[in-house]
Amino acid sequence: MSQKIKVGILGATGMVGQQFINFLQGHPWFEVAWLGASDRSAGKKYRDATVWRLDGVMPPGVADLVVNESKPDSAPQLMFSAMDASVATEIERAFAEAGHVVVSNSRNHRMEPDVPLLVPEVNADHLRILPRQADRGWKGRIVTNPNCSTVVLTMGLAPLKPFGITKVMVTTMQALSGAGYPGHASFDMNANVVPFIKNEEPKMESETQKILGECNGGAFQDHPMRVSAACNRVQVLDGHTETVAVEFARKPSREDLLKAFAGFRGVPQERELPSAPPCPVVYMPEDDRPQPRRDVNRFNGMSVFVGRLRDCPVFHWKFLAMGHNTVRGAAGAAVLNAELLKSEGLIDA
Ligand code: NAP
Repeated sequence: MSQKIKVGILGATGMVGQQFINFLQGHPWFEVAWLGASDRSAGKKYRDATVWRLDGVMPPGVADLVVNESKPDSAPQLMFSAMDASVATEIERAFAEAGHVVVSNSRNHRMEPDVPLLVPEVNADHLRILPRQADRGWKGRIVTNPNCSTVVLTMGLAPLKPFGITKVMVTTMQALSGAGYPGHASFDMNANVVPFIKNEEPKMESETQKILGECNGGAFQDHPMRVSAACNRVQVLDGHTETVAVEFARKPSREDLLKAFAGFRGVPQERELPSAPPCPVVYMPEDDRPQPRRDVNRFNGMSVFVGRLRDCPVFHWKFLAMGHNTVRGAAGAAVLNAELLKSEGLIDA
């Protein structure tokens, strides 16, 4: 591609907005050209509107960009969104109405019946729903990526879907970075586990059914399984770890499941999309892996690591899944979604 596609970021001054900027540094297709935030930041240079909270320093390429009001006027066609959920519904819709393709990380539109909730390796075919958005009078489109804990679970389950998943029990150990900045007080988190993350359990349960479900005849059908989630915040910086127990229509063998994990590939791998990891799901045979501190950054944070596959005395099988919550669960997920849209011809060069 001779000239890069200019992209914008809504919510650019926030934690996830900064992760978008980081992840898009040196991207072969996309170039950050437009930044948006609230009226508090609009009109200021990005360096003055933002306290850079990620490792390293603010990338010089964005420091002097002037932050815009979050209005579609001068923005590029492709927009990443990381806005506060209290404002994302209306602003994302305004951009879609005006003809922009909004690739959102916010929860607001995820469960709408004409909005794809994408994990490109798992349900790229859900893009078939997009023409229905024209019925709302939108010239543009909205696609979303799931909650950070849901991405890890759905990627761990997707290779096993052909065996007929009927029930899933998942318990999460979620990293501090998932709570944004400033997150939990150190007084609450030191030497502790907090067994509550607001709205997380129902989101995991419903999003997983939508993602593993089908898109036929212009509508989504949930995967016919029951999912029960228990979510906990633990003192890990990056990387959500999840223990998963699964029941199937008929119990597959251990060899079947290991082969399914090892052979799992999706559209991003077939098309060699720039952010696609070579193996989206990596089985680790060691007794004590995966571990977030040791494994989370492998393959650029874009793979999900599974391990400890063993018989479950209640369901059929149990295993562990772990993935990077702010990369595969946020900015990296949305960038991969945009690459998929580009490869489908849904974004103008
Ligand atoms: P954050 O740090 O509080 O950032 C919020 C952003 O929204 C800022 O850029 C803020 O701009 C902007 N904003 C606030 N009010 C606005 C308005 N009226 N108009 C336009 N922009 C406005 O939040 P975050 O942690 O990055 O989360 C952003 C979104 O991603 C949320 O929907 C969250 O649920 C979702 N998410 C977060 C994580 C995570 O790990 N943190 C993971 C997955 C999903 P100003 O700086 O100008 O106020």
